[in-house]
Amino acid sequence: MKNLDDFEEEIYKCSRCGLCQTVCPVYKVTLNECSVSRTKFNMLNGIIKGDLSLNKRILEYMDMCLGCNACKEFCPSNIDAREIFTAVKAQYYKQHHTVFSSYFLFKTILLSAKYGLLLYRFLKFDKITEFLSGKTKSKLLKRILLANTLARKNATEKIKAEIQKEKTKKAVYFKGCFNKYLNNDSETAVKNIFLNTDIELIEPDFECCGISHLSSGYEKEFVKLAKHNLKLIPKDCDYIITDCASCAYVLKSYDKYVSSNIKDRIVSVLDLLKNAKITVKDRPLTITAHKPCHDESGFIELIKKIKNAIYIEAENFDKCCGFSGKFAIAHSDISREISKRKAQDFLKTGAGIILTNCPACKLGINQGFIELGNKKPQVLNVIEFIAKYCTVEF
Ligand code: SF4
Ligand code: SF4
Repeated sequence: MKNLDDFEEEIYKCSRCGLCQTVCPVYKVTLNECSVSRTKFNMLNGIIKGDLSLNKRILEYMDMCLGCNACKEFCPSNIDAREIFTAVKAQYYKQHHTVFSSYFLFKTILLSAKYGLLLYRFLKFDKITEFLSGKTKSKLLKRILLANTLARKNATEKIKAEIQKEKTKKAVYFKGCFNKYLNNDSETAVKNIFLNTDIELIEPDFECCGISHLSSGYEKEFVKLAKHNLKLIPKDCDYIITDCASCAYVLKSYDKYVSSNIKDRIVSVLDLLKNAKITVKDRPLTITAHKPCHDESGFIELIKKIKNAIYIEAENFDKCCGFSGKFAIAHSDISREISKRKAQDFLKTGAGIILTNCPACKLGINQGFIELGNKKPQVLNVIEFIAKYCTVEF
């Protein structure tokens, strides 16, 4: 990974015009100038010149960022703030050890969450907390309610189709840690749909793509994860598919950190449906969508073409939902306020279903509706929606 000094020229390009301030979701909520790229670049300039040191305080400012890259999109100098802040964090952690960088710890938390959710559902805590939600506005309860969206039973029908086509292509399915540990709704949907194609799905035992480690600056552990995952990909597979926009983004960036030849074979599961005829089965449904910051699949165009689905575009549909890994925990109040504003935009559409293609964004949108206290529309991964409500002709 590059060092801060490698970005000296890039940072120098900042004219302090302030356009990044107008689009930064964190600034919009906090009105704190330190959350804006240009101010962070001022700090980094100070470090490059030797006036400041890269310390914990500076790191906290770098962490006060969702990595949404809205600022890059609007920046006249096209400065990639996300890349710079990530590199600065990685530089800091090269010199300062933290126990939080350990993947072992991360996996332990995921496994605990997995079994915790099973117990939660078994004890019917989801029903109890839903009941209590009408009686109290407790902040703690709101946080617990988010677990209900993960603890509910798989909403997608179990696989029942027979294998109908001869398999002529091979795809490795990278299901990501949400499917593996927390809620496998979209995994079931992917398998349902691909049973009827000529593509054979292979499922090696992948670990997390590493997005949380990468964006936190835990480069060493991220590289270990990338190497583990890459070793499991057979050379002869035609595609590496994923149903998560963030996994796709990170897998495509592996070659920046380790030698890999997978970039051209990584596709969103939705890319493979682009030429299919998709029709809502029963009555027409009104849908809207949230485009994750990492999405490159262009899925909005796909859902606009679904027959019998009425798409209504939400204001700010392509702006961050506020639920970005560590940020959602460390800056929970800001994260929840950003999500709430998103939920308000969705409400205005009147749509009963919100589609996206990232499980963290599903949580972000649900978090927003919990904050609003409204009865929420269904929030589904596009692939879940297709498996649940549509017929697909390839
Ligand atoms: S938009 Fe770009 S050039 Fe303008 S202040 Fe922000 S980072 Fe600097
Ligand atoms: S990446 Fe997003 S959250 Fe971070 S500074 Fe830029 S606009 Fe703000």
